[in-house]
Amino acid sequence: TAKVIDGKMVAKQIREEIAVEITRMKDAIGIVPGLAVILVGSRKDSQTYVRNKKKACEAVGIKSYEVNLPEDSSEEEVIKHIASFNSDPSVHGILVQLPLPHHMNDENILNAVSIEKDVDGFHPLNIGRLAMQGRDPFFVPCTPKGCMELLHRYGVEIKGKRAVVIGRSNIVGMPAALLLQKANATVSIVHSQTKNPEEITRQADIVIAAVGVANLVRGNWIKPGAAIIDVGINPVEASLLLVSLASGSLQHVLFFKCLWDLLALDSDLKMLQDPESPRGYRLVGDVCYEEASKVAGAITPVPGGVGPMTIAMLLSNTVESAKRIHKFK
Ligand code: NAD
Repeated sequence: TAKVIDGKMVAKQIREEIAVEITRMKDAIGIVPGLAVILVGSRKDSQTYVRNKKKACEAVGIKSYEVNLPEDSSEEEVIKHIASFNSDPSVHGILVQLPLPHHMNDENILNAVSIEKDVDGFHPLNIGRLAMQGRDPFFVPCTPKGCMELLHRYGVEIKGKRAVVIGRSNIVGMPAALLLQKANATVSIVHSQTKNPEEITRQADIVIAAVGVANLVRGNWIKPGAAIIDVGINPVEASLLLVSLASGSLQHVLFFKCLWDLLALDSDLKMLQDPESPRGYRLVGDVCYEEASKVAGAITPVPGGVGPMTIAMLLSNTVESAKRIHKFK
């Protein structure tokens, strides 16, 4: 069976490393990194994400600043706040919580963030630099950066290997594919219009799945020994599991046992759980863990894999930014 890539443990280690780095910086130059978060509207899930980011900052010693604007704010108002954080020397990272209300143009807003404080890595210039050979962005988007960090920390060789990224979103799939090819893998992208996705995925030594479809990737999609990074977070109704267990079909029982094994809720899971999803739901990935872990060489669980890495990478981007701005080595 596959080695478990323990994102929860790695993220904890990274948070500890960051806390030490912040103390060192504070002692040496009296500077504490600062992260500003702008939230527009009152979506419950966004409020929870912002609260969790704030808590994570406090825990490592990053100062957080928060602006909450009403749903009907104008683009100009949001941009005015961004501009003031751009010129505030105590702020080293600026993050606009997405999604923005429909009447706003995301690109106008993201364009207003200084590329040197764009800790989410969503500024078109940072994405453009990520795509260019010989150039580096100021920041890499947090979730794909977390995927790469897991591959590195578990010693997965990337150079010369075949990688498949399933999903091509701006925040995960696309930047993950760019990062893998920058690390010298040969990369294919599988998306909603791809024919024979299982055949293509089966060629991969490394798979990053970021789709949002529970258990899409089955055991027979996977090359023996491959490293599997499962980004998906999908709520599945827990009562369905009980029904299938009760229905007695051995195949169903085995299939849903794999889901059952993943059900242990912990604090990291609470950080990720969509507060909008009703009680009685549990989270599973895009990869059927039970099947895939019998074939793969290494695999991330859900929860406890990529999830905890995303916030850890946000903290890491913020500290990197403060060090760069203050030329602190
Ligand atoms: P998205 O909806 O923006 O993009 C999904 C992508 O999957 C699209 O590019 C689409 O082409 C592709 N796709 C859709 N159906 C497909 C299919 N049947 N086969 C192959 N490709 C298909 O989603 P996203 O924001 O990239 O998020 C993907 C998943 O990752 C979601 O479950 C999300 O909750 C999760 N996520 C997790 C974290 C984390 O921190 N762990 C962060 C962001 C997103």
